[in-house]
Amino acid sequence: MVRQDELRATFRGEFGAEPRVCRAPGRVNLIGEHTDYNDGFVLPAALDLATWVAAAPRADRMLRVRSLRQDGVASFDLDEPDPQPRRDWTDYVRGVAVMLERSGVRLRGADLLIASDVPIGAGLSSSAALEVSVGFALLDLTGIVVDRTELALRCQQAENEFVGMRCGIMDQFIACHGAAAHALLLDCRSLEFRLVPIDPTVRLVICNSMVHHAHAGGEYNLRRMECERGVALLAPLLPGIRALRDVSVEQLAAHGDALPPLTLRRCRHIVTENDRVLRAAAALEAGAVAAFGALMNDSHRSMRDDYEISCAELDVLVELAWRTEGVLGARMTGGGFGGCTVSLVRADAVERFRASVGAGYRAATGIAPDIFVAVPGEGVGAVAD
Ligand code: ADP
Ligand code: MG
Repeated sequence: MVRQDELRATFRGEFGAEPRVCRAPGRVNLIGEHTDYNDGFVLPAALDLATWVAAAPRADRMLRVRSLRQDGVASFDLDEPDPQPRRDWTDYVRGVAVMLERSGVRLRGADLLIASDVPIGAGLSSSAALEVSVGFALLDLTGIVVDRTELALRCQQAENEFVGMRCGIMDQFIACHGAAAHALLLDCRSLEFRLVPIDPTVRLVICNSMVHHAHAGGEYNLRRMECERGVALLAPLLPGIRALRDVSVEQLAAHGDALPPLTLRRCRHIVTENDRVLRAAAALEAGAVAAFGALMNDSHRSMRDDYEISCAELDVLVELAWRTEGVLGARMTGGGFGGCTVSLVRADAVERFRASVGAGYRAATGIAPDIFVAVPGEGVGAVAD
């Protein structure tokens, strides 16, 4: 856990001023994977793990930034006419400043110190936590009241256009709009959302597989291309569709033979996953946790077999969870090819889960997983001094 007093003391030592502190959470997606860039539905929850930014204004228009996870201090001039990415972690920070300024905001220069307890590259969205915490801090120092949806969009734009990762809106949106004890159902096309309370008798347990297979970025872009190909081939048969969001399970079943087999499987994941998200949100709202868990299991099988974004380690974790008494559902979460699983576990079964899944995963892979209970927390905000 990041200690706020230590962060403030380190900031004073580094930059010689008293900072404001802001934080933005990581997230776990309960269901709705790879649907965001298909204009579809997702159901994430914000975590109590977060990225913290200590920040103080400067008299000039420089940004100086240090992360406790990285070496050195980076400096940028907000007045540089054509800022180019440096192809390192600082692009997330500078990209947000660039996109906020392009949207018409004139930022103050600032010194920033960043600390985080969101695991990096584990599918819990450390990147959006970094972008959103920095964006909020820069606006806060400039005295601007933050529109949370606008901030999420500018942060997504930074990751798309400055970092060069074509992510959807989910991660930035939940980092901005998350609420304690709730998941959030988001329509990624209209950005309409609804908070859904999580049943207090269940726990969300995250297992970090501790593996990350390197080809993930390339595979992500390939999946996006297959989805686009599917829409292009279906559009003559289903006039008016703009994205896989517009295709129903029945329509895909009726017209599936218009698609090459691989494209069909990719599209089937997205189309059935959108349907599962809506049913899952309704189940959670109705207190039907067993039905919710069954949809998580179907989602995992669809990602494993049709979308092919799981990996051996994630499948081991999910199958161990499925075999543990008191587990209502389990699936991989995040982009895939490593990272984390999320399981819905009865509160009284969490210790049993920890022991059996931990031991089983070590026996199967030789790796000790990180297993923890996710406590759905608040979206971005300033921390009281
Ligand atoms: P995820 O969002 O799933 O954690 P990404 O690959 O999208 O994984 O983002 C991880 C990248 O974000 C890191 O490689 C790093 O560049 C940047 N990052 C995230 N958190 C921090 C941090 N606290 N300090 C510096 N860079 C960070
Ligand atoms: Mg990310």
